[in-house]
Amino acid sequence: MTNSAKQFADIALPLPVDRTFHYSVPEGLRDSIQAGMRVLVPFGKTVRTGYCVGFVPVPEVPKVKDVIQLKDSFPAITPPLLKLTKWIAEYYLCSWGETLDAVLPPSIRKNRSQRQILAVEPAITKEELAAMVPKMQTENIKWSKILEFFMDSHEPVPITDLASKLDISDSPVKTLVKKGLLKYKKILSYTDPHWHITVPREPFLEPTPHQAQALGWVFEHLDKAAFGVQLLLGITGSGKTEVYLHAINYALKHNRQAIVLVPEIALTPQAVTRFKARFDDVAVLHSHLSEGERATQWHNIYTGKSKVIVGTRSAIFAPTPNLGVIIVDEEHETTFKQESVPRYNARDVAVMRGKIENAAVILGSATPSLESYYNAQTGKYNLIRLPIRISNRPLPKVEIIDMSSEVGARKEVPILSHQLELLIKNAAEKKEQVILFLNRRGYTTFIMCPKCDFVMRCPHCEIAMTYHRKYNKALCHYCDESAPIPQVCPKCGAVEIRQLGTGTEKLEDHIRALFGNTDIARMDSDTMRARGAYKKVFDNLWAGDIDILIGTQMVTKGFDFPNVTLVGVISGDTSLYIKDFRSAERTFQLVTQVAGRAGRGAKSGYVVIQTFNPSHYSILSAAKHDYEEFAEKELRFRKELKYPPFSRVMRIVVQGKDMDAVKETAKEVKEKLYLMVPNNAGEILGPAPAPIAKLRDKHRWHLLIKLFDSRLTRKIHLHIRETVKSRKATEIVFDVDPVVML
Ligand code: ADP
Ligand code: ZN
Repeated sequence: MTNSAKQFADIALPLPVDRTFHYSVPEGLRDSIQAGMRVLVPFGKTVRTGYCVGFVPVPEVPKVKDVIQLKDSFPAITPPLLKLTKWIAEYYLCSWGETLDAVLPPSIRKNRSQRQILAVEPAITKEELAAMVPKMQTENIKWSKILEFFMDSHEPVPITDLASKLDISDSPVKTLVKKGLLKYKKILSYTDPHWHITVPREPFLEPTPHQAQALGWVFEHLDKAAFGVQLLLGITGSGKTEVYLHAINYALKHNRQAIVLVPEIALTPQAVTRFKARFDDVAVLHSHLSEGERATQWHNIYTGKSKVIVGTRSAIFAPTPNLGVIIVDEEHETTFKQESVPRYNARDVAVMRGKIENAAVILGSATPSLESYYNAQTGKYNLIRLPIRISNRPLPKVEIIDMSSEVGARKEVPILSHQLELLIKNAAEKKEQVILFLNRRGYTTFIMCPKCDFVMRCPHCEIAMTYHRKYNKALCHYCDESAPIPQVCPKCGAVEIRQLGTGTEKLEDHIRALFGNTDIARMDSDTMRARGAYKKVFDNLWAGDIDILIGTQMVTKGFDFPNVTLVGVISGDTSLYIKDFRSAERTFQLVTQVAGRAGRGAKSGYVVIQTFNPSHYSILSAAKHDYEEFAEKELRFRKELKYPPFSRVMRIVVQGKDMDAVKETAKEVKEKLYLMVPNNAGEILGPAPAPIAKLRDKHRWHLLIKLFDSRLTRKIHLHIRETVKSRKATEIVFDVDPVVML
């Protein structure tokens, strides 16, 4: 682009406005300014950082202000990411600038200079090291440990990391420097938080015919540099990850990079290990990185040094120079959706990014979202099935237990059915491991008065509080409010306050009372708070030091233990009662995923599902491991009620501290919607109080709009924003393709 073409820049500002702004570029900056750079511009009475998103020949108003200065020496936003963020802003109804802000890690955005830290590296050759080690062993065991460490890797290592890894102080390290065997080196704060996991190389496995079919499609697309989406529908253990690994390898051979999105990294450390065992330059992006680490990773990706990026949701914005393949593992997971602006779903953003960069996209799951499955059925995506487990291991047998027939003479529902109790006992005797899944944490989930209608609720949220015995308090799981348990009913004064509903804490108690002499562990966000807690349980499971593991959905992901032969789903219904058109889908997914944890090894597995809905199709299909049967029934239901994939859903939440203002505003939104959405273009549900009618002191009303013409979302958004008057600080939130409807 010539200099004169850069006279006027188009600038996106991170403000909730639906437009960009024009500025003139002073002569002195025209050589260096490029689209994708951040710039300082005057805005109103302040100075703001914006993003140069392009140039215009003529500004929209005759008098425009000057760009003050450039904040980057290179475009921090690459051209494909510029396009992608523009699409996100339009699709998810937020501003381009806000989206761009979400793409850059804060450390890059704030121009933090990278921290330099002191490292050591060998001052002698590998051969000299090898000769030194035996000598040192007799002289000083710490010295020999350090030198031995460097025989594997000649790379510099931060002194603090080395000391903690070898469990020594830094003084022997310093001594070795004095002796001339090691030398100091300043390095950027360490790049790879997983550096201490030295992963032995693993060979690629010869693909099975099913895997080869999936890969054929990927290779063809990479050869042609053509965009396409493959839905890889494969039960757990059917070899999906092996397909990903081959696909990435092929992309690297074409000098292109790969992004792998996973729902959760802390819970799946083995997944990361498998990628590191095959490839050298793997960057792992997750929420526990320090700002410095994140910045280093970002630079390594930007320059093409890191070629395989494994990360959660926001890794879809990794600034790879030449992206070849994008993999979304467990594509149905809700964690891919961001619940704040920009409210994107990384799975759908992945598809759009693939389109922009001519990359091959693989969506993998044993229980795909209905949206993706429908896209595969209609030919938009390429559907590949991996129908059998590798080496033909059988899927576990599943038994459904109707809990209403377990209600005893005392009219109480037992925590465990007879059958499950018996099976646990059997497994424990055989020294086989058991996983018990219950998706509710705490002790009891409901505190109420049997005489009047009092239920202990959070004063800030319209939510029943959960009793936690560990803290001897009732807690709100939404805002962390806590309160002591009343001795008498605060409403009617009756003395017996009752506690109902079982959480994992109580389940653990119950299991300990029944099976006191077995090793029992619990895994939920209460017990996993401490650093390293998760790994400990994980290691203990491997070592066989845990017989019965109790947990929330933390235990449903990536748990691959050969000695787990029994899985019990304590309540298969918790997700079925949530008011959401996806509740059947969630239930099917959860039950299928947790059932898949049994029988991963040589011994066969058994699964028990306790439920009050034994004939619900989501439970029946999950028991048969039959995704397609479920999907067909569910699609019929969605079609009839015009839910996605047969419409696009947009949720509007009106919230604020003043209940009347919220209600009024919600009603006004509805009136505007009526005029904009004729009957043949969509359906409007609500306004009604949201399932959580009050959250952190804000009242909430919502509307759900099913649109048959998806282009309407933008028009609706603009129109409502312009015409609905703001009352007493109520705020209107627009969520396209909502995932959580609470
Ligand atoms: P998924 O990701 O679908 O759960 P994996 O890729 O982890 O499945 O495969 C399950 C198991 O089968 C792993 O232990 C893996 O090493 C093995 N496996 C996968 N593909 C092959 C293959 N082509 N040949 C032999 N073993 C395989
Ligand atoms: Zn609360």
